[in-house]
Amino acid sequence: MSQNPLSGARRVVIKLGSQVLTDENMNLRRDVFEWLADDVKWLKDKGIKVAIVTSGAVAAGRGRLGFTKTATVPQKQALAAVGQLDLMWTYREIFNSRQMVVAQLLLTNEDIKDKKRHSNAANTLDELFKKGVVPIINENDTVSVKEIKLGDNDNLSALVANLIKADCLVILSDVEGLYDKDPKKFEDANLVRTVESIDDVMGLAGDSKSKVGTGGMSTKLVAAKKAVEAGAFAKISSGKRPNAVRKIFSGEEIGTLFVPGTSKLKKKKHWLKYSAPEKGTITVDDGAARAILQNGKSLLPVGVLDASGDFKKGDTVIIVGLSGKTFAKGVSRYSAGEICAIKGAPSCEIAQKLGRKDYDEIIHRDEMVLMAEKKPAQRKSPARKKAGK
Ligand code: GLU
Repeated sequence: MSQNPLSGARRVVIKLGSQVLTDENMNLRRDVFEWLADDVKWLKDKGIKVAIVTSGAVAAGRGRLGFTKTATVPQKQALAAVGQLDLMWTYREIFNSRQMVVAQLLLTNEDIKDKKRHSNAANTLDELFKKGVVPIINENDTVSVKEIKLGDNDNLSALVANLIKADCLVILSDVEGLYDKDPKKFEDANLVRTVESIDDVMGLAGDSKSKVGTGGMSTKLVAAKKAVEAGAFAKISSGKRPNAVRKIFSGEEIGTLFVPGTSKLKKKKHWLKYSAPEKGTITVDDGAARAILQNGKSLLPVGVLDASGDFKKGDTVIIVGLSGKTFAKGVSRYSAGEICAIKGAPSCEIAQKLGRKDYDEIIHRDEMVLMAEKKPAQRKSPARKKAGK
């Protein structure tokens, strides 16, 4: 067995999908909870801190109420309210029987995006770790409608990994990992064992979607990308195999491992890219888009065509090109109203138009991140190592 890259992990997030935790009748699978509890105990005994991100509330609610039809948003929220209880009851019983205490945290997008709530959540998690408690986290489905929804628990798991400064995110689902082509359609699809450059494989997810949860391979890849950009390893693997977590951390070659990038995004830029709430939009011309994308430049008033949204100086805004596509995000040094007054003008005219000049740039490069994805992968050679299915 090759050297285990995860042997140095000290803080770990394990995410379990609804398909892993429930059976075909939407009943919770106790065997899976037992494998997980054994594995978490094994990690904790090594001094590793573990947080669990769990799905399965809606699915368990369906099982409990015998509700099989597709559901409206309020119906799903009601199902989650019922199922969350069964979910936590099962975690508590099975973890307690192995001398572990669990805690429940229900989060929304707003809790992660708002700096103060973000740090409150981080402090709570730290305190739980100090007490040896295993935090079990789900989205707060009751209040999570569109605007404040995290979207899916794959995304939540990446944000939690960032919140606890995890060095590894493990996503357990019903698939073995990432394949170089759709394994449902192609018999010769190969499991990708290691991915060193995640941008090269983002196109491999296809449109696969899970039947019970909200995610699919693409949401898992996006979550893995967030984790590796924060400097953590990510692993996508099947959670249907007994003791998958222990196998992963013992160095067994299962699933797909994503290696953290060498160009780790600094914490501030990671937050800016993935968590900062967007308060407005700045539309720029082709010249400014090129200067930002190709030459790594700041955004100057001369390239701005428009500013919309009632944002203030210091707010985060998205930058869009003429096609309307968002390609960057950054902290604006001027308000929307001020930008409308100086748009199209050279920086030497800012003082004359505003009666003062704080900066030459509207968004400085140091406070900007690019949002554009690289081109989708060629399906042929996505990564360094492959193995048969
Ligand atoms: N919060 C949802 C639940 O517990 C799951 C969402 C997801 O699977 O992405 O059912």
